[in-house]
Amino acid sequence: MSENILNAEESKKSLNFIEAAVENDLATGKNDSRVQTRFPPEPNGYLHIGHAKAICIDFGIAKEYGGICNLRFDDTNPVKEDMEYVDSIMEDIKWLGYDWANVYYASDYFDKLWDFAVQLIKEGKAYVDEQSAEEIARQKGTPTQSGINSPYRGRPIEENLDLFTKMNEGVFEEGSMVLRAKIDMASSNMHFRDPIIYRIIKHPHHRTGTAWQAYPMYDFAHGQCDYFEGVTHSICTLEFEVHRPLYDWFIDQLATNSYRPHQYEFNKLQFTYTLLSKRNLRRMVEEKILTGWDDPRMPTLNGFRRRGYTPEAIHNFIDRIGYTKYDGVNDIGLLEYAVREDLNKKVIRVSAVLDPVKLIIVNYPEGKTEVMEAQNNPEDENSGSHNVVFSRELFIERDDFMEDAPKKYFRLTPGNEVRLKNAYIIKCTGYKKDRDGNVTEVYAEYDARTRSGMPESGRKVKGTIHWVSVEDCFDAEVRLYDRLFIVENPADDRRDLTELLNPDSLKALTGCKMESFLKDAKVGDKFQFQRTGYFCVDKDSTEDKMVFNRTVSLKDSWAKAKGK
Ligand code: ATP
Ligand code: MG
Repeated sequence: MSENILNAEESKKSLNFIEAAVENDLATGKNDSRVQTRFPPEPNGYLHIGHAKAICIDFGIAKEYGGICNLRFDDTNPVKEDMEYVDSIMEDIKWLGYDWANVYYASDYFDKLWDFAVQLIKEGKAYVDEQSAEEIARQKGTPTQSGINSPYRGRPIEENLDLFTKMNEGVFEEGSMVLRAKIDMASSNMHFRDPIIYRIIKHPHHRTGTAWQAYPMYDFAHGQCDYFEGVTHSICTLEFEVHRPLYDWFIDQLATNSYRPHQYEFNKLQFTYTLLSKRNLRRMVEEKILTGWDDPRMPTLNGFRRRGYTPEAIHNFIDRIGYTKYDGVNDIGLLEYAVREDLNKKVIRVSAVLDPVKLIIVNYPEGKTEVMEAQNNPEDENSGSHNVVFSRELFIERDDFMEDAPKKYFRLTPGNEVRLKNAYIIKCTGYKKDRDGNVTEVYAEYDARTRSGMPESGRKVKGTIHWVSVEDCFDAEVRLYDRLFIVENPADDRRDLTELLNPDSLKALTGCKMESFLKDAKVGDKFQFQRTGYFCVDKDSTEDKMVFNRTVSLKDSWAKAKGK
């Protein structure tokens, strides 16, 4: 992927198909030219980056066309839902920069949905079926073969009303009966073959407690909730396209005027090297494969937030991939690119040595220190600078020194010159090793005339390396995160997800040397560690030990590995 492709995409400011539909509705005065959307999460997990794509179009459309977007919790299945998720969902939406006009719960409409189901029974359009779920599925037929009518399809209305009431009173066991809409067992759309609209669940609900024991199915709740609220554009993902005729059918049974919500479907976000379904994410938390919903390797919004991703990067990424009618898998590298691009503009450059070896400037006076100026961000001329202390003993990265270097190695090797960033040009004069052959100290001489910013400093050397002063640094833990899965499409892989994990998705390095400027950084603060990548302060930091997360490396090492 190159920058040019992204820029070309960016300059295409044409309307997506949803915007085009909204503009058409506004032009024709549909629904009194109102624009009202909703974001309808099920509070059964934390939001992931796929939900961010839905949030951006739901809230984005309302904002763009002067309408409103409500937050509606789709809490029709009490077994999996919890208030913890409700709170986190609200926090994540705000983090993305949106605010809802109202908060609703599908459970707010349980009474109205019940009344509507009773209405359908009374009109002869619904019946209680006592067959098992398996039996009902067997009778469904296939797209080319009609289904078989249930033996309960002709049950008298009074009996249906009585059984439906008892279903809700806890008289019957879970799974013993369901309420089905009576539509058409020969319909070419399988969803019309007498869909189940209510089932018995004997589990307390996180808001309504034990008031209900019969709960509506998604298809029986979603469109009606849209209708009750006055939604005009109900935007969801492509797998619901085949449900749309049923969505419309229920609303036609319910509607008393010409107002109609309309459902639009767009392509789900899918990523390489990533699993996005809440089912899998919950499993990784429950089985302690990861440390929690906010593990920085999670594709959840709070995982990304902890990792150091910014809402701006997520918005830029979503704008670039756009909304289409075709499913596809996006390269996770594209999101990482957007993160780098955003942080590059914003964050302060600092020095941190992750794998330190000592460098001694043998001709620099012992006890002397100098204050050097480090520019905060060369991409932003107003970003200012901060001070770094230079001294005789420094730490440099172990791999910035080699005893026997190949020709093209422009870092430290005996006899070779490099520039120490923001300081002097030095020449390597030797090194010391321990008994095991590990280099323990590197020696160099500095040239006092080459201090950065001085006239003579223009002398050219091929390599520049970063460093921190032994006098003026502190130890910290650095967590290097990498992709969670080693296979490109874990969602399509038949193996269990535990077999697909990248064993190197987290490497925790201790004893990393940080320049003292970082001491005051707060949880969430973001930096570029020169030559290494983008990092942020993790919430596991304590008074005694700071912890930094690698948000993203400076370059895409995976693209290189694949020979791109
Ligand atoms: P999951 O399958 O990950 O559990 P879900 O669809 O069950 O997700 P909901 O809470 O029901 O999660 O979804 C809320 C909204 O987010 C829905 O409109 C849904 O279509 C949308 N959404 C979910 N996953 C994605 C995705 N990967 N890309 C875009 N939109 C998504
Ligand atoms: Mg769902």
